Amino acid sequence: MRKFLGKVRTRVKTKSIGKEEEVAVFRERVEANKEKYPPHVLQVIQGELKNLDQLEANSSEFNGTCDYLDWLTLLPWGNYSEEKFDVIGAQKILDEDHYGLTDVKERILEFIAVAKLRGTSQGKIICLSGPTGVDKISIARSIACALNRNFFRFSVGGLYDVAEIKGKGRTSTGAMPGKMVQCLKDVGTSNPLVLIDEIDKLGKRNAGNPASTVVKLLDTEQNANFVDHYLDLPIDLSKVLFVCTANDVDNIPKSLLDRMEIITIAGYITDEKMYIARHYLEKTAREACGVKPEQVEVTDAALLALIENYCEEAGVRKLRKLIVKIYRKIALRLVRQRSSNEAAIDKVLVDTSNLSDFVGKAKFREESIYDQAPIGVAMGVSWTAMGGCISYYETTRVEEGKGKGVLHVTGKLGDVMKESAQIAHIVARSILQEKEADNHFFANSKLHLHAPDGVTPKDGPSAGCAMVTSMLSLALNKPVKEDLAMTGEVTLTGRILPIGGNSSRLLDFEGENISSEEEQIILPFGNKRDFDKLAANVKQGLDVHFVNYYSEIFKLAFEYDENNTGN
Ligand code: ADP
Repeated sequence: MRKFLGKVRTRVKTKSIGKEEEVAVFRERVEANKEKYPPHVLQVIQGELKNLDQLEANSSEFNGTCDYLDWLTLLPWGNYSEEKFDVIGAQKILDEDHYGLTDVKERILEFIAVAKLRGTSQGKIICLSGPTGVDKISIARSIACALNRNFFRFSVGGLYDVAEIKGKGRTSTGAMPGKMVQCLKDVGTSNPLVLIDEIDKLGKRNAGNPASTVVKLLDTEQNANFVDHYLDLPIDLSKVLFVCTANDVDNIPKSLLDRMEIITIAGYITDEKMYIARHYLEKTAREACGVKPEQVEVTDAALLALIENYCEEAGVRKLRKLIVKIYRKIALRLVRQRSSNEAAIDKVLVDTSNLSDFVGKAKFREESIYDQAPIGVAMGVSWTAMGGCISYYETTRVEEGKGKGVLHVTGKLGDVMKESAQIAHIVARSILQEKEADNHFFANSKLHLHAPDGVTPKDGPSAGCAMVTSMLSLALNKPVKEDLAMTGEVTLTGRILPIGGNSSRLLDFEGENISSEEEQIILPFGNKRDFDKLAANVKQGLDVHFVNYYSEIFKLAFEYDENNTGN
């Protein structure tokens, strides 16, 4: 049975309670709030209380009816918390709890402002989308706090059966109310903010049709009469504010996506992670472990090493776990030395030299595959759910022969990426044609393009220009200029289109593979505005070229003598 079943039985039946007392408890609960109960609920309760009279105490039917009445009388019928639409207060809560995320906060404040003017926050469903560990859940919690709504969270990621949401009928085995009813009982108000976590993972392994159940649940027109199979009567959920989280909006069923307002949280760059670690994660870890600030010092270098060598992630979930681990170990050290009467240590210092004593050896070290990329290899910057990362595109010639020109691709590429490889092949061919009309390399070569790290699925069109460059490098027999990375979709005519996502994430590769002072990045001109918005420290040391056409990349990537007539 699922985890939450443990909560289902709320009625603790003690031996001392007899039938009359049991009935009296239910009547009391109803009387205390009678005017708030919807008439149809009161009617059912009265009927069930009458039934109890006829039943043998301790019979299974009696117990079943008592359980049912227990649920009915514990739900917060007509009980609402007074909603607040205080933009200033909300801003304060958001700023205190979450570092950065300016755009996200602004969108949330806009949402509250609109709600204030309309007099209701009901309508669009907010969906916070982004990788793991970027604070989605606690942002939802802050929204609840700002609106003065109680908070309840459940995940539909592993949703196995719609009964988890809609409950199981009282006559079936494993009878139980669903998540929504449990939620109302737990929060004690009929207008909580309910966070539906991992909505993009809905219905992978399913019984019933979870997606359509969730659509109905979220639809204010239908959820005013939500019927839980166990309660078997309509409950009004129209005052509940639903917020969802997702890692990848592309996996959200279309019918749900239409009703959502997506707020994207892209992930953090190293500087942001450092700040979050220092000012938020360390503080909570320290407090949770009872360590005083003056008893410990974790150096900047140690934090940076944690981020770069231990946590390959776009968010800070792993980082938070490791910081807690460090503080637990510090607590043990402090207590041990105190109880062994050793000379008191004033302070535990955690630095790169002793970091592994606290968190073990680094799980990975980001190594470049190449110090200097060989001919046929180009560096791309890609955007995955993990954040921005460098990826290489390698092309080799497998076979040569008149009319053999074909491209084969590998590297766990998705459909969009496979298509963009084909487009890149054509673009590379026409550029070569333009430069060296007599060079029939593409017409006569069977090529193989590979994106190493073949276990990581990749998709999206933004590798287009790196693929063209890799093929041209091979065709021209020239290496790509050192330390040059690029991103951008390329069209058949060689135009470079902007990339989606948040371009600030693209730049989260400082210190990875592009390390010299002459780091050069090629970005689509259409992303210039995103780039301009980045903080100065992020842009520092980067030499960025904005381009509209592949011909501009060609000039940057290859030292090419335009008078060369080819072979
Ligand atoms: P998500 O819900 O996105 O998967 P988690 O709740 O797993 O995120 O982890 C994020 C944790 O990291 C939060 O609990 C919070 O402590 C911390 N955190 C992440 N981003 C920030 C931020 N911008 N400001 C402060 N703390 C943050």
